[in-house]
Amino acid sequence: MKKILFVFLTISALFTIDVAAQNGFCGTSIEDQIIIKERMMQNRANAALSAQVRTGVMWVPIQFHLLEDNDGGNRVDVMKVFDMLCALNEDYLDQDIQFFMKDGLNFIQNSSVNADPNHSTAPAIMVGAKVFSAINIYIVKDIPNSTPGSTLGFYSPQFDWLVLKRSQVSAAAVETLTHELGHFFTLAHPFFGWDGQYWEEAIHGNPAPISSPAGILTEKMDGSNCEIAADGFCDTKPNYGLGFGWPNCNYNGNCEDPNGELLAPGVQENNFMAYFIGCASEFTPEQKAAISADLNARTSLHTTLDPDITAFTDSPTQNSPINGEETPLYNVVGFDWEPVGGATSYVVEVDRTPTFSFNPSVKFVSGGTYIEFEDVFDPNKTYYWRVKAIKEGNVCGEVLSTSFKTGTVTGTQDIKEILNHTISPNPITSGELLNINIETNEAFDALINVYNLSGQKLKEVNTTFNLGTTNHELSVSDLSEGMYIISIESENGVLTEKVVVTR
Ligand SMILES: [Zn+2]
Repeated sequence: MKKILFVFLTISALFTIDVAAQNGFCGTSIEDQIIIKERMMQNRANAALSAQVRTGVMWVPIQFHLLEDNDGGNRVDVMKVFDMLCALNEDYLDQDIQFFMKDGLNFIQNSSVNADPNHSTAPAIMVGAKVFSAINIYIVKDIPNSTPGSTLGFYSPQFDWLVLKRSQVSAAAVETLTHELGHFFTLAHPFFGWDGQYWEEAIHGNPAPISSPAGILTEKMDGSNCEIAADGFCDTKPNYGLGFGWPNCNYNGNCEDPNGELLAPGVQENNFMAYFIGCASEFTPEQKAAISADLNARTSLHTTLDPDITAFTDSPTQNSPINGEETPLYNVVGFDWEPVGGATSYVVEVDRTPTFSFNPSVKFVSGGTYIEFEDVFDPNKTYYWRVKAIKEGNVCGEVLSTSFKTGTVTGTQDIKEILNHTISPNPITSGELLNINIETNEAFDALINVYNLSGQKLKEVNTTFNLGTTNHELSVSDLSEGMYIISIESENGVLTEKVVVTR
């Protein structure tokens, strides 16, 4: 019997997109909540799981999967993922549960999954990316549904993963993830059964019927059926979907339970699972016990981690380019910052907008405080970059941003006196001398400048190139490994060339 039920649900989850749509805001369907609640009941019956076996904070691994279009566009801003994770940990702190990123962020380039994670072809891609020993959270551009309103996120018990719409990814919108993780840990809605068909006097009558539109027992005010009705918790008070459309955090409508008892003023607008939007701030003790029992049962998520959670004292100081500085090239730009104590890696982001809302490019850097971005910039444009220090137990450090302007060249020669030139060897090892060999039809004075890719001038040499051929030797022993710009500047023009220094 159970097997047949599972097959039916599998098919419905794959092909009935409308299931998510009925719920308006949360896309965790009634069918899925039946499974969720059944798991909760099993955990509750299993005293061993219900017992608190944890001491101290449990660190629970999360794998975020960031969907992007095939051209790399329409991906959530990674900094918002960190902000959301920090806010999430505040919501779960009083349960001694803290979440951390297991192996950085996973980027998935697939336009159709990004546009619709319920599409029939999506699960194959998502299963392929799924990590066994972590909570998998896929962040997508949109979760379409066929009714007005928008699905902001859902938990799928079939695949045991969460999906979030990227508009819900920020510290301010963390309620959505806190709520969907509640589903992950076996919590149904307090209004379970009224999902998508919220109580309305004209439709359902007052007092409310003993059974919800979905056929789930309606919870009564006197507590007589609370252990089995609705979400199965006695300390989440009766709520027949009253949060939907109610404009504030103080329900005082006239809805009555099947015995004729008023639900107000006992409605818990502040419950994370209740969907009074913008009002949520807590789980009840029974909900917390269910979360704890389910976490106890989910041994694949257990870790013995005790990560360094101390706060970063500073954001990384940006060295270059800063404050609108122009970079020597536009096709390759290097970024340099001061190390921050305790950081195990850094996240560097560049974008056209100071809010990083256009289409930020991102790189993770471990073991260094310098990174180059290639082929992401247009010439002669203003960009912004920022860098964040991170470590396993803390991604909550401050981040600052600064602007820079890209140069116009990838390498150029417009000094009319120069007939031929070679700059060699290239690549050069740091012990060798760089030979700048210039053949001219007229002597001229020039400056030889050496820049890094961030636009910082590292060397400046005054010289004269004579008529005929002149060879100027330049030591590079003080330059670390990387790419540099050799720039010969005279009153008649500039010659620039990239040189790579190796060890
Ligand atoms: Zn929900």
